Amino acid sequence: MTKNKKKKYGRRQVKPFPEYLKALVATENGEVFELEGYGALGMSGNTLVPLFENNTLLMPLGSEMMLLPDRKPRVFNISKQCVETLTENPYLPGEKIFPVAMFNSPGYVNAYACAYEERNNAGYLPLFSYSAAGWGSGGFKSAVIHVDKERRQDLRLMPLEKVQSGVNKLRKKYPENRLRLHLEHCALVSGCPAAKNFFIGRCEAPLPTSQQCNARCLGCISLQKTPGLSCCQERIAFTPTAREIAEVALEHIGKVEQGVVSFGQGCEGDPLLSGDVIREAIILIRKSTHSGTINMNTNASLPGQVERLFDAGLDSMRVSMNSVREPCYTKYFRPQGYSFGNVVESMDIARAKGRFLAINYLNCPGITDSPQEVAALLDFLTKHPVNLIQWRNLNYDPLRYYEAMTKADDQGEPLGMDRLMATLKKHFPTMKHGYFNPPKERF
Ligand code: SF4
Repeated sequence: MTKNKKKKYGRRQVKPFPEYLKALVATENGEVFELEGYGALGMSGNTLVPLFENNTLLMPLGSEMMLLPDRKPRVFNISKQCVETLTENPYLPGEKIFPVAMFNSPGYVNAYACAYEERNNAGYLPLFSYSAAGWGSGGFKSAVIHVDKERRQDLRLMPLEKVQSGVNKLRKKYPENRLRLHLEHCALVSGCPAAKNFFIGRCEAPLPTSQQCNARCLGCISLQKTPGLSCCQERIAFTPTAREIAEVALEHIGKVEQGVVSFGQGCEGDPLLSGDVIREAIILIRKSTHSGTINMNTNASLPGQVERLFDAGLDSMRVSMNSVREPCYTKYFRPQGYSFGNVVESMDIARAKGRFLAINYLNCPGITDSPQEVAALLDFLTKHPVNLIQWRNLNYDPLRYYEAMTKADDQGEPLGMDRLMATLKKHFPTMKHGYFNPPKERF
């Protein structure tokens, strides 16, 4: 063997077979523990994926662990080298155990869902997202990808004293403003981070406006008709006037460097249904200042309204979509009187007017990274380019969602969320990836 060859082979190292994270389960009363001898699994559609150190991250700060009621954990039996669905603690026969999932902090997108099977007569899971989790070196680990490092919704940066002091000041300044009062309730009672940021005077402030929506999303968090599912936010019960909206927006823009104000929040319907009052408010804001970014989070169902709002001074639009395949979109959004074509038309208007356009891409592993969705997304973005994809986790029962989506279209073997993102970066190198609405200085 030559010297060179020796050197080459000498550098080679045999990688040790990666160790499974330990499976996490919970007792009926919520006590979480790791199950010795069993590896943690993630679920992507109907594919199971083992969790290791290298496809998980330490549980992000602010994340929460959840026990999945009416469900059985799916785990990997390491000595038997097979997948098992457990109904009881293998070390304590008779003790019922349940799967444990993670609801991750903003900025993290789920790579795999928690692996479980439903028990008989299981109800819907509440409207959260459920990433896979396990126990590894350093503690609890979560199957997520970090997509945005900004600490916009980091609750540690929103101390209650600061929020309360902002509330007191603005109460005196705008005693009659009903939108200010609504946000006060959001910040102090519902704990909404966007409303807290408004009173502290940082980043992005919410401008909820609309009581109505023309979609009926399966996982709508502000209106639910599905028996067994309840919404976690209450819709605003009035429509603020243009002056009330402009006062709140101008207060925020006036004191926050690179401040963003956004229509379209969790506590309302779709802002396009209040397009007239919003247009009036945008005109009032822009009469006073050219600073600040006026953004709208929307289903983009009404291209005519979108055009009028851009003409009035709207800077950016973020469009919510669970899929770029029309049958999957329609199955989830259940549009009332509009079509997927209208959404695309609105997006094209934004681009034609040179405005910043983002997709709020509602992710569920197994659907979002299915080969069918990936191909459709590449084609869609070629025809309808966007500036940014905001990777958001779909807050909906993962198995029920998979079932609904397979009725709408084929879902093949998933590519993996990390590979999907890498593919997009390769095909669209200038398109951004993140989680929050950027200020116009960062468009
Ligand atoms: S678009 Fe928003 S408000 Fe309308 S149904 Fe869907 S989630 Fe609810």
